[in-house]
Amino acid sequence: MELYYLTAHELGDLLQRKEVSAREVAESFLERLETVDVKVRAYLTVTPEKALEQAARVDAARARGENLSPLAGVPMALKDNLCTEGVRTTCASKMLAEWVPPYSAFVVRRLEAEGAVMLGKLNMDEFAMGSSNENSRFYPVHNPWDLERVPGGSSGGATAAVAAGEACYALGSDTGGSIRQPASFCGVVGMKPTYGRVSRFGLVAFASSLDQIGPITRDVTDCALVLQAIAGHDPYDSTSANLPVPDYRAVLTGEIRGLKIGIPKEYFPEGMEGEVARIVKRAIGRLSDLGAICEEVSLPHTEYALPAYYLVAPAEASSNLARYDGVGFGLRVEGNDIIDMYMRTRSEGFGAEVKRRIMLGTYALSSGYYDAYYLKALKVRTLIRRDFEQAFKRFDVLATPTSPTVAFRLGEKAGDPLAMYLSDLFTIPVNMAGLPAISIPCGFSQGLPVGLQLIGKPFDEETLLRVAYAFEQNTDYHRRRPELGV
Ligand code: GLN
Repeated sequence: MELYYLTAHELGDLLQRKEVSAREVAESFLERLETVDVKVRAYLTVTPEKALEQAARVDAARARGENLSPLAGVPMALKDNLCTEGVRTTCASKMLAEWVPPYSAFVVRRLEAEGAVMLGKLNMDEFAMGSSNENSRFYPVHNPWDLERVPGGSSGGATAAVAAGEACYALGSDTGGSIRQPASFCGVVGMKPTYGRVSRFGLVAFASSLDQIGPITRDVTDCALVLQAIAGHDPYDSTSANLPVPDYRAVLTGEIRGLKIGIPKEYFPEGMEGEVARIVKRAIGRLSDLGAICEEVSLPHTEYALPAYYLVAPAEASSNLARYDGVGFGLRVEGNDIIDMYMRTRSEGFGAEVKRRIMLGTYALSSGYYDAYYLKALKVRTLIRRDFEQAFKRFDVLATPTSPTVAFRLGEKAGDPLAMYLSDLFTIPVNMAGLPAISIPCGFSQGLPVGLQLIGKPFDEETLLRVAYAFEQNTDYHRRRPELGV
């Protein structure tokens, strides 16, 4: 296989054995990107000089005989809401189109310390609000499996790049499904770690009580490697957990006999795509063949998660996005007076979906409505968390579809926000409860990838990786690559 289609651990081995240089690897990805990104449009900013410079540093360190991380010299890219010192960080918004951060996110520094090679910054829905990437203020991303379809969102540039050979792995963010849903649409592995497992320092905030950064990779081993590199306590994020980080690769044994897997019945509703449900059930059957004990469970408050999320997330967003007023950051559109300047800046800087969220959130928080909407949503959030707590008394892991459908057509849901919101039906409850979850490729429906979601107990990413790895060892969906006609 071409270098640009290998996994990080495969590239890491080749590099360690000096069969290829980091420079050759970086060049392979940069050439690939040059050929396919005109079709996929996964990148907003490409940083070839930076990539080649970082690769040269890795090659020099290896020549000196230094002991390097398995990720050293492996090319990656970052969702464009992760701050990168000296490289513009746009959030795919006009508001930040020219904004260059003065510092890098915690996770970016961690990867740099491992010798990562950064290829550039990835397209997304504006401020991570969306499920299709069509809300980018620059251009939509195309799904590498079918260029007429969306890659999912909001980390759609990230999952498309990894699927198309334009980055070996990527980091995305997940507030309501933005890593897992596009991972499932693009046939790659995507993990949302437990809230607090990974520092959010330097992640542009959308909804701070839900946002989490996570890996997007080509297989489960890479997911473990990348999580290892980015997990851990950071005093600069007060919500980051001060807990030891286990050795994630050590749990990749392939052994899941006796493990208890719950199948929440609310996650196979009428109206979801029959073929997707069938493929996911077949995947769960595979897990019981491997010795897991699979039984049905009920999470009775599931149906309230989506409406509650669309109060909590917009409420937090309306507050977080208040900072974009033409003074501190990014765009400023001059006006007759300061209020006029604020209004013009925000009218031009934000796109339609971002404005919709700000209005929803401001309304939900306004006096007189606070109890009826925001406070009630918080109570529902507690009920959702309790559903999971109950289920985890009996089960080690829960298995569900990642999304009710495969990738839909560009434009198909763009005019219907409610239809778009339904895309995250199965991912949102996980963020509401702060739990870890992973989406892995588990089959194809009419040539399009389907994802299996595994949900774990708080801070038990290990069991997720263990189950995901066992599944992957017995299937080859993760080895398929899209044609793309080049
Ligand atoms: N699609 C969901 C939304 O639009 C989730 C987004 C996310 O996880 N960032 O809010």
